[in-house]
Amino acid sequence: THFGFETVSEQEKGGKVYQVFESVAKKYDVMNDMMSLGIHRLWKDLLLWRMHPLPGTQLLDVAGGTGDIAFRFLKYVQAQYKGKQKKQLRAQQNLSWEEIAQKYQNDEDPLGGSRVMVCDINKEMLKVGKQKAQAQGYKTGLAWVLGDAEELPFDDAKFDVYSIAFGIRNVTHIDRALQEAHRVLKPGGRFLCLEFSQVNNPLISRLYDLYSFQVIPVLGEVIAGDWKSYQYLVESIRKFPPQEDFKEMIEDAGFQKVTYESLTSGIVAIHSGFKL
Ligand code: SAM
Repeated sequence: THFGFETVSEQEKGGKVYQVFESVAKKYDVMNDMMSLGIHRLWKDLLLWRMHPLPGTQLLDVAGGTGDIAFRFLKYVQAQYKGKQKKQLRAQQNLSWEEIAQKYQNDEDPLGGSRVMVCDINKEMLKVGKQKAQAQGYKTGLAWVLGDAEELPFDDAKFDVYSIAFGIRNVTHIDRALQEAHRVLKPGGRFLCLEFSQVNNPLISRLYDLYSFQVIPVLGEVIAGDWKSYQYLVESIRKFPPQEDFKEMIEDAGFQKVTYESLTSGIVAIHSGFKL
């Protein structure tokens, strides 16, 4: 192939993936919007709705890159926490909405104890994420850790939810990453993965192929000055196992009640599983 990914050894794949994300880090967000026409935002929103984190949730977002999932998580739990607290306060103390709003101005932990740990192997992606967090005013509840999905730098049974969005296809040994996900989750914890998948509509499939092979590398060249990285993106999507096969891999790692949901005719899928 153009990028030679089919012939590189497993050892080399990690290095190539690193180069790709190092190269695209600064343009990563704008490229996502351009390539998906903004639809990646809806897919990520849906991942959060499926997760439905309640106040207190400890999330590990692996391959978290520039923080898209982490920021959505913080927004979601904050809204949940405020909504719940406000209702309780109003019911218990008969306060007016104005009095409640005042109370919330002094609230020390608007997340109700929820925390998100973003883990990514690429320090350039994390750097962009941290800058975004600062620019958007996220101060608490968020930590950034450099680490490999195949060898997570965390103790066993630490997290309630493990998420990975558009990350797992970049990992060299997917089975190892899944085992690590299982290890770091608490019993009862949930695994959630958003990833490109197999298109299930023949017409959409033809259009999608055309778009992927003809348009995406060109966009990559024009916007990010990087044809090869976006060629890699398209190739890595094609090589990722279809919905059912990936479901089996998740089960093989020890997860139970594994299900998936195809979105946008299967362009992406959300897989879910529990450590029981
Ligand atoms: N989750 C983010 C999102 O949805 O916008 C970023 C996804 S980006 C396509 C893929 C990310 O996976 C990159 O930030 C890359 O550095 C990271 N990555 C690749 N291999 C990894 C590994 N073995 N462990 C952790 N992160 C990895």
